[in-house]
Amino acid sequence: MSKEETIAAIATPQGRGGIGVIRISGPLSKQVLVGLWRSVEKPVDKFLTHRFYYGNIGDIDRGLAVWFGAPHSYTGEEVVELHCHGGPAILEALLRKCLEQGARLAEPGEFTKRAYLNRKMDLAQAESVVDLISASSEAGLKQAQEQMSGRLSKVVSELQKEILEIRAFVEATIDFPEEEFEMIERSGVLNRLVPVQKKIGALIESYETGRRFREGVSVVLAGRPNVGKSSLFNALLGSDRSIVHEEPGTTRDVLEESVVLNGILFRLMDVAGLREAPGSVEKIGVEKALSLCEQADFIFWILDGSMEPTKEDFFLRDRLDPVRTLIGFSKSDLPFKFSKSFFEGSWRSESGRSGSWSLTPQTPFSAKEERGLQEIRNAFVERVQKKESDGVGIRISHLRHKKCLEMAKNELDFVKNGVEIRKSAEFLAENLKKVNEYLGQITGAVTTEDLLGEIFGNFCIGK
Ligand code: GDP
Repeated sequence: MSKEETIAAIATPQGRGGIGVIRISGPLSKQVLVGLWRSVEKPVDKFLTHRFYYGNIGDIDRGLAVWFGAPHSYTGEEVVELHCHGGPAILEALLRKCLEQGARLAEPGEFTKRAYLNRKMDLAQAESVVDLISASSEAGLKQAQEQMSGRLSKVVSELQKEILEIRAFVEATIDFPEEEFEMIERSGVLNRLVPVQKKIGALIESYETGRRFREGVSVVLAGRPNVGKSSLFNALLGSDRSIVHEEPGTTRDVLEESVVLNGILFRLMDVAGLREAPGSVEKIGVEKALSLCEQADFIFWILDGSMEPTKEDFFLRDRLDPVRTLIGFSKSDLPFKFSKSFFEGSWRSESGRSGSWSLTPQTPFSAKEERGLQEIRNAFVERVQKKESDGVGIRISHLRHKKCLEMAKNELDFVKNGVEIRKSAEFLAENLKKVNEYLGQITGAVTTEDLLGEIFGNFCIGK
């Protein structure tokens, strides 16, 4: 990619809308606009930066044009935006005209990539642009805003600064081979490493919550057929999305719907009735359901409170993980008949897993009478918030960042161990250097073309 090329793309989503925007970035941006602008009262060379002007654009539509003089633009380059009516034919015709005037079609994420290359934002901030756009809950949005504001980058650069100081000291001892061990020991290098390690550890730990806030929390509604899963699913969603049927085994597919509770996005999955399946079609569904239970953030296991446990309930008791499960007793409008001795003692499954259900929270509810639903919602929210670890006051939410931090942590472990077993200062300095390289990959201080391709390739065109 040459930075000198001028790029253009439709920046608004596909489809029809009140307004559609074309974004142009690069040295020819203004020239492209000159070629399209038909308004004699306000020629482009009289445009002030960051001001809207109304006029005829390319004989295609009347709309607004705005010029952002470099470097005060999103990309840091000369940028022009054309705001017209948001119809696909209008926007495509206008885009074609921009290309005729010398721009080329932007690649996915190229505007943001240029913003990064021109140091308008670092890599972690650039990645948060996608999070910001795709956030569908308040928690996800807040988190993206935080990362966008550069808070993560600040924490990372503080860690790097500390590592750099430690490294400078360690390196200084290289000139004194006779005394280097004593100097390193006396200087308290080990003590200085501890808080850095703790902070990195806390960041790594924050990933699970961060990821959940970004992607949504996945919850499987589990339970044998006919316990009232679909009815609850519908009650929680307030619609008739899932089929409610009196015959067992009707919900064969996985239905997924999202609800936002307390600003957190939950992805609820109603899966095939979980039991030892008689039919082969159903068996596939059961296997899929069990594997979804394994992958989900947690499981909401529904038991029919109006009757004794069945052998199918036992089938599930020995397969679900008590620690990752919440229990709901359905049909609380009917007399409670479920025998609680069902949960007593511990068990060991055929696969060797063992567990105890004594501490798993239980909530009675009735989908029919809409009772206990708020308690279920509260239990879901509490489940996620309880996991919150706020060691450094900020969360990470990208696997890439987690991996960089884990690599940095590994290197730090080498350093710590190296000090203890009196490895040479050169060795320690080399590892400290690597710690900072891994940290630098988060903010993009250290990067490769492949990595950039991977990150920005996931963006949409126009971002
Ligand atoms: P699923 O197979 O687990 O998805 O169960 P369904 O939601 O299809 O419900 C199975 C049966 O239980 C249906 O006849 C429902 O009308 C009934 N049912 C579901 N929820 C309740 C409830 O809260 N109270 C009562 N009395 N019946 C319910």
